[in-house]
Amino acid sequence: MSVQPDMSAAVPSQGAKAPSGSVGTSLLPGATLGVLGGGQLGRMFVHAAQAMGYFTAVLDADADSPAGLVSHHHVQTAYEDPEGLARLAGLSDAITTEFENVPAQALRTLGAERPVAPAASAVAIAQDRAQEKAHFVRCGVPCAPYAVIETAAQLAAVDAAALLPGILKTARLGYDGKGQARVKTPEELAAAWQSMGQVPCVLEKRLPLALECSVIVARGADGACVHLPVQRNLHREGILAVTEVYEGNVPAALAQQAVAAAKSVAEGLQYVGVLCVEFFVLEGGTLVVNEIAPRPHNSGHYSQNACDVSQFELQVRTLAGLPLTQPRLHSPAVMLNLLGDLWFARGGTQPQTPPWDAVLALPGTHLHLYGKAQAKPGRKMGHLNITAPTAEAARATALQAAALLGIAPF
Ligand code: ATP
Ligand code: MG
Repeated sequence: MSVQPDMSAAVPSQGAKAPSGSVGTSLLPGATLGVLGGGQLGRMFVHAAQAMGYFTAVLDADADSPAGLVSHHHVQTAYEDPEGLARLAGLSDAITTEFENVPAQALRTLGAERPVAPAASAVAIAQDRAQEKAHFVRCGVPCAPYAVIETAAQLAAVDAAALLPGILKTARLGYDGKGQARVKTPEELAAAWQSMGQVPCVLEKRLPLALECSVIVARGADGACVHLPVQRNLHREGILAVTEVYEGNVPAALAQQAVAAAKSVAEGLQYVGVLCVEFFVLEGGTLVVNEIAPRPHNSGHYSQNACDVSQFELQVRTLAGLPLTQPRLHSPAVMLNLLGDLWFARGGTQPQTPPWDAVLALPGTHLHLYGKAQAKPGRKMGHLNITAPTAEAARATALQAAALLGIAPF
């Protein structure tokens, strides 16, 4: 007996508005996908959406934002602007975010009009380190010992023996190591909290790290959940510098544990979209969750060239309610972050274009630049993905590229 497939779902809904209801009713190419935030993550989302035949709309106040520059529509207002949000909702069939620090209220406002993924409730948790840690505890995924410090009484009650030396982190609005202070004594802790303006903070015990890794999961509204392979990450001065992905980059048992933990964190949030979970591996081999990002992540950029589905295509698929298939790593890969510092690596006070031609002469190099006009130290300008037949070859080429660019060896 042959069963005829139901072809009705394959008819493009050219420009059609989403049926009411949650994300999960497929929006097919021809629809318009909106994104809050115009940074590089939004730009790469827009590129992936457009490659699949979607129209795109970006909301960002900056006329020259990386994503706004390449989108079909660009609404140039602040995230809180009701008129801007209404315009984005009017243009879009479904909306996502590229930035966890958008006010959760903006997502709630949009969510009343259109399917929004991830949900405001999940983003609100990822925005706040105290809530984020409480969520890890709920999911039974171990994190660093910590204390929430919102009041002078909580500061005075800190168990110094258990939490110092530690890292004081503002509960909200931190990124790339900003809003953090390393403290060794109760006096240093009090001074650091004072200098942060006594805003709500989390004090974390400083742990002996053997390595850092992260996992990107994509979860659909139907609960289907897929993941990218575990990424091994090297940070320098609080900023991601290098990501390495290949068989054996972390011990296999740890990788399995990290994937399972990342999935339970997503599951616990009833998450829809792409979620990155960052981990520490301690010197004794224990896995500890660090933090989550409710969006594609810098450590997942290698997937653009090394996987059969990139993290940005996964974001498109989850937002549009398309099926998720388990991504496959087809090449060992190394990603080098290209910070603005590289424009000054050859000396001088004026920025100089790095030697892209020499870098691109190396086999398996893939250059991604974000279209930012001005290079500044510490600013993420782009990344270089290196793919090769073997992990050794990928690392060797990455080290050659790093030497050409003025990135310290790793
Ligand atoms: P990003 O948003 O860029 O991921 P962030 O500003 O949110 O960074 P964290 O991820 O909290 O900052 O910390 C940045 C880096 O600092 C970590 O990747 C790790 O190298 C180091 N670090 C943070 N917390 C601890 C800790 N408790 N013990 C040891 N090292 C830590
Ligand atoms: Mg981090």
